[in-house]
Amino acid sequence: MTTSDAPRGDTLAPDRRADLLGMTFDELRDWLVGQGEPAYRAQQLAEAIYHRLAPAFDQMSALPAALRERLDTLATIASPQVRALVASKDGRTRKLLLALRDGRLIETVLMLYPASPEGRARATICVSTQAGCAYGCTFCATGQMGFERHLTAGEIVAQVLYFARELRERPWTAPDGQPIDRVTNLVFMGMGEPLHNYDNTLKALRILNMPEGLRIGARHMTVSTVGLVPGILRLAEEPLQVNLAISLHAPNNEMRARTMPVTRKYPIEQVLDAVRTYVEHTGRQVTFEYVLLSGVNDADEHARELGRLLAPLRQLGHVNLIPVNQTAAGYQPPSGERIRAFRELLRIEGVTSSVRAERGDDIAAACGQLRTRETRLQSASSARA
Ligand code: SF4
Repeated sequence: MTTSDAPRGDTLAPDRRADLLGMTFDELRDWLVGQGEPAYRAQQLAEAIYHRLAPAFDQMSALPAALRERLDTLATIASPQVRALVASKDGRTRKLLLALRDGRLIETVLMLYPASPEGRARATICVSTQAGCAYGCTFCATGQMGFERHLTAGEIVAQVLYFARELRERPWTAPDGQPIDRVTNLVFMGMGEPLHNYDNTLKALRILNMPEGLRIGARHMTVSTVGLVPGILRLAEEPLQVNLAISLHAPNNEMRARTMPVTRKYPIEQVLDAVRTYVEHTGRQVTFEYVLLSGVNDADEHARELGRLLAPLRQLGHVNLIPVNQTAAGYQPPSGERIRAFRELLRIEGVTSSVRAERGDDIAAACGQLRTRETRLQSASSARA
């Protein structure tokens, strides 16, 4: 594990300048025109931000010097402050702890995957959409923090830009020799519930997808939710082809409510109805995430019950089994043998599944763990001071 401690994320004065990273291309053009600039400058500015990946206005040589100076006083494309950067031993998982201007801490993870029978090598960013989270899932370190605030669209986009620049500067060479120098996939699975921050999440998604932006295809983006039914139904109406993942984690409401309190508001049956609507409207398959907690939800009977629950969806749904990362809550991942038995029982019920490769256990990669660890270290050092 490598750690680089950067400046501490103290609270900074609110930035009154316009956050260009939170603007769609049309908004960027309108804003520039409002500042008395010709509309064509929007293309040049977007090109500098998203294609050349300039980290500051003074590095945008295609723009006149006078405009660069004006932008510096009127606008920002600033990244959050890097509080810590850790990388797994194999270098394929890199996690950032970022301090926002108000001192809130969030996490962003880059995961590098070699080519496999399922597809080419890829660089996936896991972004946060909120500081903290209101939903209190017991297996999740973020869930223990409580809700702090929604991230703005610009704060979500900035997380992706950070790693886009890093990959441009230092491409990763996949085992097959293929250089990966850009972000290929996005998962909205970091801290927070994306559909609780619906408008900012969708706006960030559009900015990252737009031709003048990073051009990440909607089919390469996955929005993960605990099952907020109104948000799923709203997403079904969007003219976007994003992937939807449902954090299910239990085969029935009673068991799910023990680890996921949101179940009391949106029972599994309602979530599955919304999923059917989503599939009908978008034609996209939905993934059901199932964190395997040893001795809690990984028994044969749970696999059979899960299989029976999802069998009616058949080809419309796929189960992604995730052996839990060890968190403060003290859960343990099941053995490989248990996982194989679980998958086999799903298969018998006609439900397809895969096992998510465990990533970055040596760097506390699951959401909220790095922040929890850093906060503890900080408290310990304050207590010693
Ligand atoms: S799993 Fe997702 S929804 Fe649940 S507490 Fe963690 S961040 Fe929130």
